[in-house]
Amino acid sequence: MNAMEQRLGVVGAGTMGNGIAHVFARAGFDVTMVEVNEQALERGLGMIRKNLEREALKGKIDTAEVPSIFTRVRPATTLDALRDCSLVVEAATERLEVKREIFRNLDGLLREEAILATNTSSISITKLAAATGRPDRVIGMHFFNPVPVMALVEVIRGLQTSDVTFAVVRELALAAGKTPVEVNDAAGFVSNRVLMPLLNEAMFAVMEGVATAEAVDEIFRLGMAHPMGPLTLADFIGLDVCLDIMRVLEAGLGDPKYRPCPVLIRMVDAGWLGRKSGRGFYMYQ
Ligand code: NAD
Repeated sequence: MNAMEQRLGVVGAGTMGNGIAHVFARAGFDVTMVEVNEQALERGLGMIRKNLEREALKGKIDTAEVPSIFTRVRPATTLDALRDCSLVVEAATERLEVKREIFRNLDGLLREEAILATNTSSISITKLAAATGRPDRVIGMHFFNPVPVMALVEVIRGLQTSDVTFAVVRELALAAGKTPVEVNDAAGFVSNRVLMPLLNEAMFAVMEGVATAEAVDEIFRLGMAHPMGPLTLADFIGLDVCLDIMRVLEAGLGDPKYRPCPVLIRMVDAGWLGRKSGRGFYMYQ
């Protein structure tokens, strides 16, 4: 099927779900966005409108186009609304049981040829595929935050993902204005497998008194041209999210080099989760 003939669905209207619906609608697709929580659905729609208006102000899209792009996003509160979709990207909460249940339900609902993609950061694509009767049509489509801005989509092949499924998803990513990069299914894929140990190691350096958080961040901004240092980035991602991913890497790859830094564990225990809680390696208003 030609990428532009796809009827698309997104599950979850949170940070990632509304961003994914945004880029699909902006590229001309009709997209149904399903969210269980009505307030989150309203918030997600509000974010899409606000971000489209921001893009119009910056001259990235025509102001006159904003209403038509926005109306291409159809909100819904039950998975049933996705029945006619040829491809659904699941972007619900990062919990195996939540995702498994969604995959099971979608598998029973969608046409036989439909593709089930997941935006998971760390859960095994192969494991999610096994919850369905169509493991060859299950794939990872890992967008980056903020979705309307970041160019990359990590396209993750599960053990049984077919070449046809991969080709359709690759073409869809290109049609949505993104750059797909192919990887195989392994804990943390490539992005988090390489990024998270960097953030974790920066935390060890602070814990051992090698340098302050400010100094570590400055070294990466000025010396490596990173737009933000690793500890600022960890606060931005959320320290609880960082800890969850380190645990996935440690369990999935079985190497002690992935052990989470004790400071990270203590901060999460204290509820210091970074920017979203007002305190992490830095203080936030
Ligand atoms: P979020 O908490 O902002 O949004 C998740 C949404 O899913 C919530 O609004 C929740 O109500 C909804 N939801 C839960 N169960 C549902 C169901 N059964 N049906 C419909 N909606 C349901 O989370 P997020 O940051 O958008 O993350 C979503 C996914 O994207 C996760 O798998 C996460 O690992 C991944 N991801 C996140 C980032 C990031 O930077 N936030 C980056 C890449 C990938």
